[in-house]
Amino acid sequence: MIKSVRGMRDLLPPETETWNFVDTEVRQLFGLYNFQEIRTPVIEDLQLFQRSVGEETDIVYKEMFAWQDRGRAESEKGQWLALRPENTAGVVRAYIEHKLWDQPGLRRFYYVGPQFRRERPQKGRYRQFYQIGAEVIGPPSAGSESPAVDAEVLEMLAALLDRLGIKDWTLELNSVGCADDRRRYNEALREALKDVVGKMCADCQRRAQTNPLRVLDCKVAEDQPIIEKLPRMSDYLDEKCQIHFAEVQKILTALDLPFVVNYRLVRGLDYYTRTAFEFTHGSLGAQNAILGGGRYDGLSEALGGPAAPGIGFAIGEDRLVMTLQETAKAETRPVDIYVVPLGAGMNVHAARLARRLRRRGLVVVSGDESFRLKKSLETADKTGARRALIIGENEVNSGRFAVKDLSTGEQITLNLEELGKLGGQP
Ligand code: AMP
Repeated sequence: MIKSVRGMRDLLPPETETWNFVDTEVRQLFGLYNFQEIRTPVIEDLQLFQRSVGEETDIVYKEMFAWQDRGRAESEKGQWLALRPENTAGVVRAYIEHKLWDQPGLRRFYYVGPQFRRERPQKGRYRQFYQIGAEVIGPPSAGSESPAVDAEVLEMLAALLDRLGIKDWTLELNSVGCADDRRRYNEALREALKDVVGKMCADCQRRAQTNPLRVLDCKVAEDQPIIEKLPRMSDYLDEKCQIHFAEVQKILTALDLPFVVNYRLVRGLDYYTRTAFEFTHGSLGAQNAILGGGRYDGLSEALGGPAAPGIGFAIGEDRLVMTLQETAKAETRPVDIYVVPLGAGMNVHAARLARRLRRRGLVVVSGDESFRLKKSLETADKTGARRALIIGENEVNSGRFAVKDLSTGEQITLNLEELGKLGGQP
């Protein structure tokens, strides 16, 4: 038997109903903030992620599905390609490629789609997973650097979680400063790590060399007391970044949006600047981040575009749905009518009637080929159908059809017009 590949999974009904419920709510809510959907390809040039997410991040260094494509000629080697591990890089590439800055004001995009990372699979962590994300991006003259944009994005996220009925989330916030601040902070960290890194885990030893900021992400218990004593980013923010961060917090407080400052929140991608954030939820266990995001003021330039500061986030839809499963409001629509043809000759009539009823907005299931009334009614009952519509030769000839209410057992006879008026269930 061929099975699904490790870390990949099937999403099955009825759970898919919850996914659709989330997608619908997202589209409606994001629309109120004037976000528009963007769809970028799943396959991109590998360099896109090396230059944006960063070569030394776990995502690019360890987790990318990447391969060298075939060239045009049989013998020729082609381009290095990758399955996207995240979507911000693709959105910013599209922004540059299609000169989307040519329109006035800020651009607000959202996306929904699969991402790929070769991580160790566990609860809430898959190799193909889905993200719902959004990006606000534009020239500085359009106000793209404003802390008000950060606050609006965070408020939209809180509104989404509230709307979906997810309670007890925590918003963790930090500022990772601008590129200069990070350079200085990285130096300070490298310096401080020199004496202690020998006592830390193997991952930290590598990170201390390649990307010291990531040491702050370490979850190994023995390393925690050492990390607590390391220098803090907040002491390395320049004045502009300090003011920016204070302003974001001021607006959130005015909106009564609760948050905690977590000075160790650095996030796994290189392109972040200033505001970085995560929403976590206790029910998720070890992988407790529902979503993460932040500012990326230099990303467009790093990819060869114009200055276009931006901020965005990515919600892990798999985890969001897991959180929702306990409280889910989404339900499969019940079947209104189960059509029972009493013989192969009735299939044509059954098909016509079923089409007619569906056009009226009813959920209709076409009966199987048993063609025996008793058995068909039993099956109809099992599908949870409200009524069965019986189609036999007499019915077709007289134009009057027997409709059986499957909960009461009551049977009535309706003509075509009356059938069309049968009500569906919401
Ligand atoms: P990131 O792009 O790493 O900032 O991740 C944003 C969100 O995507 C996280 O908060 C998770 O909810 C989700 N996520 C990231 N990686 C995975 C994964 N391998 N499986 C499921 N969800 C993930």
